[in-house]
Amino acid sequence: MDWIGRSVSEMASALQQGEVTAQALAEEHLSHIEACEPKVRSFLEVFREQALTAAEAVDRKRAAGEKLGPLAGVPVAIKDNICVKGEIASCSSKMLENFRSPYNSHVTERLLDAGAVLVGRTNMDEFAMGSSCESSAFFPTSNPWDLDRTPGGSSGGSAAAVAAGFAPIAIGSDTGGSIRQPASFCGVVGLKPTYGRVSRFGLIAFASSLDQIGPIATDVCGAALTLDAIAGHDGRDSTSAKEPVPSFSDALDQPLAGLRVGVVAEHDNDGLDDEVRQAVAKSVDAYRKLGAEIVNIDLPNAQYGVAVYYVLAPSEASSNLARYDGVHYGYRAEAENGPHSMIEMYEHSRGQGFGDEVKRRIMLGTYALSSGVYAAYYKKALEVRRLIRDDFTKAFESVDFVLSPTSPTPPFKIGEMIDNPLALYLNDLFTIGANLAGLPAISLPCGKTSSGLPIGVQLIAPAFEEARLLRASRMLEQEIGWDGELAGCVSQLAGD
Ligand code: GLN
Repeated sequence: MDWIGRSVSEMASALQQGEVTAQALAEEHLSHIEACEPKVRSFLEVFREQALTAAEAVDRKRAAGEKLGPLAGVPVAIKDNICVKGEIASCSSKMLENFRSPYNSHVTERLLDAGAVLVGRTNMDEFAMGSSCESSAFFPTSNPWDLDRTPGGSSGGSAAAVAAGFAPIAIGSDTGGSIRQPASFCGVVGLKPTYGRVSRFGLIAFASSLDQIGPIATDVCGAALTLDAIAGHDGRDSTSAKEPVPSFSDALDQPLAGLRVGVVAEHDNDGLDDEVRQAVAKSVDAYRKLGAEIVNIDLPNAQYGVAVYYVLAPSEASSNLARYDGVHYGYRAEAENGPHSMIEMYEHSRGQGFGDEVKRRIMLGTYALSSGVYAAYYKKALEVRRLIRDDFTKAFESVDFVLSPTSPTPPFKIGEMIDNPLALYLNDLFTIGANLAGLPAISLPCGKTSSGLPIGVQLIAPAFEEARLLRASRMLEQEIGWDGELAGCVSQLAGD
């Protein structure tokens, strides 16, 4: 296990120096996956043959002296709601179980251009609705740190794959925390870029005003290198921003001076686990030690975030998911006793194709948008969303970043929350604000519980400030010293 669990930059530079071939790296990862994946179940499908062929091509090009991309030969796992040409993209739903994408997403194209070797598609909550990977129509994924616990969600398969050493990078999507919460549960780094920073062309939509694609990686540098590859304008996504894209990895090791880090007093409430509180307090101390000024700030409307999100996201989902009716797209129910009526065909197709959580969201959203209640729910939620965004704008007049826990609790047990959707929704308390306001936010490991479970800290930055956000994260990462922890997780998993 020479390379398993090592960082993206270590792998990329070893590949460039010729210390390892892409093929050897792919083979080593594939055999580690073969040995340990049955315990974790992070993949819906491993692209064994495709990965070996792609790795071979990278080696061939390198040998021929061709110019290669920065991720040439690096294994990457991809969430199952992001289209890869010729492969299934099921969103972990029976509805799309047999949907094979005829085209590549923008992010897939960029990764392939950068030379990445796609190793498989990862499990997720169905249509990205959930925080535990348990709403997958196929199976739940386990947390590599403790197999009885969830890896978080919805990008739980992606985060688990990175923590398990199956790939140093995995791509996720984040609508209300789905990159950051699983990253925090799995002791890895997860970045949700600014809304518009990464094109969503080829991302299967959940809630279009909130969805964003981003990297999950072993460390901050890995996230920066991946963002370098996938960020930038794309005319095929009308919300894609025309902002200039700096190199996120270039200046990463230059510490920032005069940092002002905002903390929010109301974040410290009853729902916050003690060990999470302590670990996050240590991150605040670490910044203080690094010379940052810690500033108390107010986000008075943050308390309404969960309520606002759970009106807006289901409303958008109810519209986005209308296309899955067995005719335009998706699972088509068989007629049991001869042909049934058209209405029955729709009902059966949607009834059988979607799982419980997705149906709950569609019903919630359809209700919130219906005439008579629209103004009381959907419109009101939009108004409060604006207030939440204004709170951040005001906060950023006096601070560079807002620091908070990523999730109020450490990873919970599989099955523990399954019958209590509301408790699960509350898990998104700290992550939802960045989506509602469209801001970039990162989760990085900041400590462990007494039983050895990872805890994450979140930093939120002003729009399009990912470069500074990543530099500040790198400072904290070095101060906390997480190096070696992932290797520990991987060897425990392999030895179990
Ligand atoms: N947990 C949140 C939800 O269930 C967020 C999901 C996401 O970011 N895709 O909606």
